[in-house]
Amino acid sequence: MAKAKSNTLKLNFDTSWSYAPAPENKSAATIKKQYDLFINGDWVKPSGNKYFDTINPANEEKLSEVADANMADVDAAVKAARNAYEKIWKKMPAKERGKYIFRIARMIQEKARELAIIESLDGGKPIRESRDFDVPTAANHFFYYAGWADKLDYAFPNRLSEPLGVAGQIIPWNFPLLMAAWKIAPAIATGNTVVLKPAETTSLTALKLAEIIQESGLPEGVVNIVTGAGATGAAIVNHPDINKIAFTGSTEVGKIIQRAIAGTNKKATLELGGKAANIIFEDAPIDQAVEGVINGIFFNQGHVCCSGSWLYVQESVAKEVIRKLKDRIESLIVGDPLDKNTDIGAINSRQQLETIDKYLNIGKKEGAEMYQSSCSLPGKGFWCRPTLFTNVAQSNRIAQEEIFGPVLAILTFRTDDEVIEKANNSPYGLSAGVWTDKGSKIFNMTRRMRAGVVWANTFNKFDPSSPFGGYKESGFGREGGLHGLLPYLNLIN
Ligand code: NAP
Ligand code: MG
Repeated sequence: MAKAKSNTLKLNFDTSWSYAPAPENKSAATIKKQYDLFINGDWVKPSGNKYFDTINPANEEKLSEVADANMADVDAAVKAARNAYEKIWKKMPAKERGKYIFRIARMIQEKARELAIIESLDGGKPIRESRDFDVPTAANHFFYYAGWADKLDYAFPNRLSEPLGVAGQIIPWNFPLLMAAWKIAPAIATGNTVVLKPAETTSLTALKLAEIIQESGLPEGVVNIVTGAGATGAAIVNHPDINKIAFTGSTEVGKIIQRAIAGTNKKATLELGGKAANIIFEDAPIDQAVEGVINGIFFNQGHVCCSGSWLYVQESVAKEVIRKLKDRIESLIVGDPLDKNTDIGAINSRQQLETIDKYLNIGKKEGAEMYQSSCSLPGKGFWCRPTLFTNVAQSNRIAQEEIFGPVLAILTFRTDDEVIEKANNSPYGLSAGVWTDKGSKIFNMTRRMRAGVVWANTFNKFDPSSPFGGYKESGFGREGGLHGLLPYLNLIN
């Protein structure tokens, strides 16, 4: 059986062999030296004339510099969005709106390769993920919501719907293009206009999307993209002429936003953090479950809000599952995100790597046993070996808090009731997984688990027609599907 320790060029004929490198070609992507703000259909210099660097987390090299939008810039973007809403977009026949959105979807497909390369360069995720998941799923969201634009009367029978106005949208760094698609597509399909801010460390694909939007001929001001850090996000949240805030990010910032908009008539959807319990019963197809767990937490560096970072294994099969997980993480390829063989890319930023390292120390101090793959790591950039913790107690912080890295906490259980109680004993409630051969057990678990999504015998599957969102401190509101239209509409009887 092939055993690949890393995707470095070294071939070790004595003990193992490596895959030959299969790097995607960087030159298939164009990244400008500097990016301005996309306001009213045009590229506009930031009024404070400030720019910040965006780097490749796999080698710490600068990729480009990006405009830092201040309050005046956000105000200009909101004004452009308001003007486009009142004068053009809300008056446009819905089927015409839909045509623009279809065009954007097709253009994302046409530029898929370039978008995938830029996503992996800027954010550190393996090209396999950005090529096979992020970019096609982003295009699919535009296709899906394009189809709804002229069918809103059928979506809500006997009720009229009207758009809210200007939506302020703020997204995180883990799925930069996909989160932009999740936000923009339903907003403009329902007749709203948008001011969107990507995360500071991963602005580039949102800016490429702005280029696509400009080329698509979408009326000026319908979508405005302003880059910057937290202060730019706060300027959007606090702008008085915004009707709706759509935020995806940490629970901490979600709480700040909710406090900031309390007492205003801004609507909000908050998609926040998660700690997903993945539960393996003794009757599960074990190899399939092990692969599902690996997919759920290690691919994409654990940078997924619904990562299955909290594993419960029924006691009778725990030894076998842990042994298989250890074997499997040893074969994961950690390295160059642009290499098509890579399983685990770079951690998104130094700051996130420090957070993960902090939790590795907390886990050890709490008395859990840590096991890491023995793979070598590149010398530059931000990296973390795939890590398992066993002997974890329910109350341990590594079992309760979101780590957002390739770190799996493993606990055991004996009965259904016990595991439901433990899995629900969390401030979060975004997602969960159940692995069992028995259909009735799946229904019992999914009914009783307080999680927005429960996957059965699979993990991390997404489809634009399925709603996604959390319970408890994982937020409120749903994105995707018919449900994803509602947060952007007023329904009138
Ligand atoms: P974050 O720190 O909350 O940042 C999210 C976005 O908010 C970024 O654009 C950020 O800008 C901006 N921001 C920061 N402070 C702000 C403020 N005071 N007001 C307004 N905006 C502000 O989250 P993150 O670390 O980027 O992302 C990871 C988190 O997102 C995890 O907790 C993860 O679970 C969650 N997430 C949830 C979902 C979901 O669907 N539930 C999906 C993906 C991720 P800067 O980047 O410049 O700081
Ligand atoms: Mg970057």
